[in-house]
Amino acid sequence: MTSSSQQAFVACRVCGDKASGYHYGVTSCEGCKGFFRRSMQKQMEYRCLRDAKCQVMRLNRNRCQYCRFKKCIAVGMSRDCELLKINNLFYLFLLLFKKLKIIIYDYSNYSTNHISESIKTL
Ligand SMILES: [Zn+2]
Ligand SMILES: [Zn+2]
Repeated sequence: MTSSSQQAFVACRVCGDKASGYHYGVTSCEGCKGFFRRSMQKQMEYRCLRDAKCQVMRLNRNRCQYCRFKKCIAVGMSRDCELLKINNLFYLFLLLFKKLKIIIYDYSNYSTNHISESIKTL
């Protein structure tokens, strides 16, 4: 029984190539993952020359970026996974900032009290 390697084949939901894992919420290949990431980063605007009806397959997936990107969205790819990471970072930053603010607030409270006290003693 040596069929485990064949059973492990998972097709990319965008182009049907061998998926390398779960990317942007969808099982996809390295090519489509990279393509989707680049599209998001550069906020590319693609155009289709064939009425947006191209078949996106492994062999021709580079032919029409518009349809490939459309397919990425259609199968459920989303940058939310990435946004989540960014949100977490933002949240951490916010927490840090809050703590910092408390420290600054305490410090300024302390210093104003200190100053008013020193004014009193004058
Ligand atoms: Zn793919
Ligand atoms: Zn197209």
